[in-house]
Amino acid sequence: MEGLPQHPPHKRPFDIKVESSCVFCNKERENLLHLLVTCSFANRFWFASLWCINTCGREWSSFMEWWMSITTLLGEQDKQDVIPLLACTLWELWKSRNNMLFNGECCDWNRIWELGIRLAGDFKEVQQSNSLATVSRDDGGSCVASCWQHPTMGFIKINVDASYRKETNSGASGAV
Ligand SMILES: [Zn+2]
Repeated sequence: MEGLPQHPPHKRPFDIKVESSCVFCNKERENLLHLLVTCSFANRFWFASLWCINTCGREWSSFMEWWMSITTLLGEQDKQDVIPLLACTLWELWKSRNNMLFNGECCDWNRIWELGIRLAGDFKEVQQSNSLATVSRDDGGSCVASCWQHPTMGFIKINVDASYRKETNSGASGAV
């Protein structure tokens, strides 16, 4: 899944500015591998990480190949700690891309790391709580745990998600 979700030019519903070039460097065509790994911004991001990963000057055919090259080096114990942190920082990097693309807000990779580490900590806390709790933060930044509850009688609770495939100009949505 190397194509990233973007509106085709003739179907921009809210006149959102969408470019096919990378929002971080404005030089290369955006795809998942470039955005999260090989972009000069991503390279600085990973090099400043706890693991000092240098993504410059190496070739991967896909994001998945890069992911496997990193994660297969880890021992079983390290995987339990490192993979959630990698996934959370990648998620924050993706969110910062969207924030820059759709809101025009620049991001600082130190801040992305802070958010990723915090998210990974929240994830670990939920995993250790051995419950269906989720953790969010209130306006003051304090951690708040909440559990899933049955909806009130007479109401229906629906979870929804959607995706878009640029290559085929198709999308899908689902509800549970
Ligand atoms: Zn770039």
